[in-house]
Amino acid sequence: MSESDQRAALPPRASQGHVLGVEEEEPPGSPKRWPCWKDVPDELWNDWRWQSQNAIRSVRQLRRFLSFTDEEISALEALETEYKLAIPPYYASLIHPDDPHDPIRLQAVPSPRECENPSGYELEDPLEEDKDMPVPGLTHRYPDRALVVTTHVCTMYCRFCTRKRATMVRGGWDAISRDDERMIEYIREHPEIRDVILSGGDPLTLPLPRLRFFVESVAAIPHVDVVRIGTRVPVTLPMRLYDQELVDLLASAEKVWIQTHFNHPREITPEAARVCKTLLRAGMPVNNHTVLLKGVNDSLETMRSLMRALLRIKVRPYYLFHCDPVMGAGHFRTSIWKGLEIMEGLRGHMSGLGIPTYVVDSPHGGGKIPLMPNYLVSASDDSVVLRNYEGMLIRYQAEDKPATIKPTATRGVSLLLQGTKTALVPENTERMKRRRLIVLANKAKANESCDSSRPAALASGVPPVPPSEPTGLPDKEPVVVAVAAAVATKAATRRRKKVSGG
Ligand code: SF4
Repeated sequence: MSESDQRAALPPRASQGHVLGVEEEEPPGSPKRWPCWKDVPDELWNDWRWQSQNAIRSVRQLRRFLSFTDEEISALEALETEYKLAIPPYYASLIHPDDPHDPIRLQAVPSPRECENPSGYELEDPLEEDKDMPVPGLTHRYPDRALVVTTHVCTMYCRFCTRKRATMVRGGWDAISRDDERMIEYIREHPEIRDVILSGGDPLTLPLPRLRFFVESVAAIPHVDVVRIGTRVPVTLPMRLYDQELVDLLASAEKVWIQTHFNHPREITPEAARVCKTLLRAGMPVNNHTVLLKGVNDSLETMRSLMRALLRIKVRPYYLFHCDPVMGAGHFRTSIWKGLEIMEGLRGHMSGLGIPTYVVDSPHGGGKIPLMPNYLVSASDDSVVLRNYEGMLIRYQAEDKPATIKPTATRGVSLLLQGTKTALVPENTERMKRRRLIVLANKAKANESCDSSRPAALASGVPPVPPSEPTGLPDKEPVVVAVAAAVATKAATRRRKKVSGG
């Protein structure tokens, strides 16, 4: 049961059939439209303008679709004046309306808990981005990167947003302002800036002329190598990217990378997959940020499923962010331990392509700090002891030099540091069982061919294993012994048949 299920006292979610560490994946389904939109013609449904015009933007509208208690309604109405709300019909239709704990709902629908600051640690600007702004809207924190806030507008207002202080500001502006020009000038005057992140709000909500101004002005600066567009449009309103003019604009700049933001496997719909494919085909790498959110994705099962689904649409999981202590979003924060537990269950268990870097964006503008479980267990003058995902402890020569440690009677990890042993292998790992079977199968084949000539054995492509050859395997386990016995019996039967001409 995930932490969020326990908290919400929900029944445990159905397990996704685990056989030898393999999970069954649900293929992405097409979102079902809520009944009120079922008769909307596809041309309208697939039109981003229609989606924006029909977005749910008030608590009054929300009440038509979802049930709330009276207390919740009064809290939400009070919140409404402070925090904006927008949920396009496409994204709303991903919500299971009967589940108050639905992970899509939690991201999009306001909660009375936004009035709380559970730890007292929440801040308006927890990353102190505003303090690192040499010109309004541009944060210059890292040596070679700059972040440009291009708009306050988003297609959907995420309830956990780190920049709530900005995205919740009412109104936007369509014209290119003096501040916009100042940001471009700053980048031009700072040759150390090589990577510019156009963010917001969501830059893909900008009118095309203003977006063109940012993309083309930044891309035209010779020392800028990368223009990153931070956008949740592929997740919350993929129809915006059905617009070829927008895709062409982004592609023509040639330096554009897309930084998107999927948080849950159910967000990876055929529509989202389609636009990611369009972006990739147009030559733009697509990377993903996920924010670790209580109740949304704070379980290993959900996170594995999300990372695998991202790989299937060729989107590279890039960062897993620990949720920032933002005013009004404290209820989304998990412990750091939860993040480490999830990383422990990802690394080694699935393709490295699907492993994001887990980061804490630190207070005081310290920037992103990566966290991961410890893989370095111990060290000496000669070697280090490393741990793999199975719990195997391995001695690794720290540098190429003769050993300096004089062996002493000892045990455990200390033995590895002494160099008396090279690994401590846990019992019953799948890998060691497989290895032992390979060794036994090779032995059986070698025995089978021992009556024949040695060249024949070599011709089979399987070199015989001499009885004395060390295998590096732990002691035999009952299951393996049984399987090995079966392999040996089969080989003996084959041999007997051969001898008798059968
Ligand atoms: S899309 Fe990004 S900027 Fe906009 S509300 Fe969501 S997290 Fe914040």
